[in-house]
Amino acid sequence: MLGRMQHWPLTVDKILEHARTWHGAREVVTRSIDGPITRTTYADIDARARRLSTALLDWGIGPGDRVATLAWNTDRHMEAWYAIMGVGAVCHTLNPRLFAEQLIYIVNHAGDRIIFCDPTFVPLVKAIAPHCPSVERVVLLAGEGGELDLGPIAVERYEPVLASVTTPAPWGGFDENTACALCYTSGTTGDPKGVLYSHRSNFLHTLMGLQSTALGASPAEVILPIVPMFHANAWGIAFAAPAAGAKLVMPGARMDGAAIHELIEGEGVTFAAAVPTVWQGLLTHLRENALCLSTLKRVLIGGSAVPESLIRAFHDDFGVDVVQGWGMTETSPIGTLSNPPAALARAGLDAQMPWRLKQGTPPLGVELTLKDEAGRRLAHDGASPGRLMVRGPAVAAGYFGREDAVLDAEGWFDTGDIATIDPLGVMQITDRAKDMIKSGGEWISSIEVETIAAGHEDVALAAVIGVPHPRWDERPLLVVQLKPGAPQDHASHLAWLEGKIAKWWTPDQVVFVVQMPIGATGKVDKRRLRTLLSAGQLP
Ligand code: ADP
Repeated sequence: MLGRMQHWPLTVDKILEHARTWHGAREVVTRSIDGPITRTTYADIDARARRLSTALLDWGIGPGDRVATLAWNTDRHMEAWYAIMGVGAVCHTLNPRLFAEQLIYIVNHAGDRIIFCDPTFVPLVKAIAPHCPSVERVVLLAGEGGELDLGPIAVERYEPVLASVTTPAPWGGFDENTACALCYTSGTTGDPKGVLYSHRSNFLHTLMGLQSTALGASPAEVILPIVPMFHANAWGIAFAAPAAGAKLVMPGARMDGAAIHELIEGEGVTFAAAVPTVWQGLLTHLRENALCLSTLKRVLIGGSAVPESLIRAFHDDFGVDVVQGWGMTETSPIGTLSNPPAALARAGLDAQMPWRLKQGTPPLGVELTLKDEAGRRLAHDGASPGRLMVRGPAVAAGYFGREDAVLDAEGWFDTGDIATIDPLGVMQITDRAKDMIKSGGEWISSIEVETIAAGHEDVALAAVIGVPHPRWDERPLLVVQLKPGAPQDHASHLAWLEGKIAKWWTPDQVVFVVQMPIGATGKVDKRRLRTLLSAGQLP
């Protein structure tokens, strides 16, 4: 027997409609690309996005067409995002930190017809557009002015386009499984692969994100997604903030410590999200200028493992709670959050720390398990590392334009991460499968060594990679970017690790780099480190 409830397709246009109706006056504040801070509301974003949808329909964009954005987090980017999705087209967020050749591959693979682009990315668009035959039109996310000639490709300016449209387009009315957004993984192995989200998956992911164990947003909250919209949908915040009616603060192009601090204090930000490297920049700025964080209560840090030193610095020096999140583009991206177990909910930080350093537990809507190489389930004993497998309504079942099967016979998606799950159900990533170091037939967790190494008072960033070794196959090498002015003291970094990790896990060598290579999503780029190492270019 079927239930007798209404059919109400889970489409993301309803999220902005909800924000407009119930939280219409709530502000969206942007550090605009030209510099000044601008203010709008969910009601205005909704009205302008619906007019932009009319322009898209006039340009012949229809259901399933891919429309790309090459933009930082701004109100206009958000309008374009909802305008595209609202009419059943697919919003393809491009990562402007990729090389032109990678973007050309991705735009051609996606078959993007239009690119919405921040004026700062005009040189990049000029480099890629002539090599992308599917692109018919480029829309500069700007007012009047600025010259751009792309030959046969039409060039529009965003504000004049909006000013020329008076009628809002109707949104929704399609199946909830309709494709809605496209995001390519950075492709650290092989070609980039496109994760094709549906309206339903993004809607359910938003509800998952609103659980108090996840983003837990409320209308009283002021949320700053520093994580870009092109990095796994800003971890869902461009959906979750309007869904909750929270004030949204968009950082635009500036993610340096000074700019972020100014936004947090000026706008009363209570909750912010970014990868660890961004937070290191903010903390350095705060310390150098003896500043405080008067409104910030919580930060979500994810994308790579969070060192204890970062959690302590936020807690001890600034009274801010750190929640670590694990996820990936293929999981929309929320997978787990490092909430302490119930028995320790009121305990102090020291008691909670072992759990805060783990990646955590999944919210409702994410299933996790561990399997060995033969596909057998492993015990949740905290001691048996295996391949982390994930299942759920917001997990990829395949990739855009590719036929290869990505799920095993039981429907699990292999994350490529190696993890343990302890008896309390808390997951800990021990490594990415491709970053693991095999020494004398045994595995060394590069993540564990580098998160401890990062706790040394002189370390700004630390990474551990494997170096070929004639006897042991591989040995770990510690690569360190020091804090400004700190001494290059190899021995003190090795001494710091003593007693904290097994002796044979201790790196044989420490090398110092002026600037750690950072990849397109703001994480330490270990592939680049390995390339530099094999070219003899690591000092
Ligand atoms: P990219 O590799 O292009 O940055 P993703 O953002 O999808 O793409 O990266 C997902 C991967 O990042 C995960 O599979 C995992 O290896 C790593 N990761 C994400 N969050 C964490 C975390 N909290 N701790 C350790 N690793 C993490």
